[in-house]
Amino acid sequence: MKEGLYNLKLVITDEKIILKPIIYIIEPKIEVEKCYICKDVDSTIMTACKHQYCSTCIETWLERSNRCPYCRTRMIEDDLIMIE
Ligand SMILES: [Zn+2]
Ligand SMILES: [Zn+2]
Repeated sequence: MKEGLYNLKLVITDEKIILKPIIYIIEPKIEVEKCYICKDVDSTIMTACKHQYCSTCIETWLERSNRCPYCRTRMIEDDLIMIE
């Protein structure tokens, strides 16, 4: 699989916020850190504020809040990048 990034679109439904990949972009390699929430697995998603989370943690989080769990920056459409 090619190295690259997926932009994710935040889709807000009545019940919850879900993530949808929309664009594939090739960018310089990002240093993947451990998830900031569980601190256990490698991150798969990076926010615009450069904080990284695994998809399990961030999806669970986004069901409750649309702010970055770490710095509280509001996460809007196109702000989330999937690190693959
Ligand atoms: Zn995690
Ligand atoms: Zn943040």
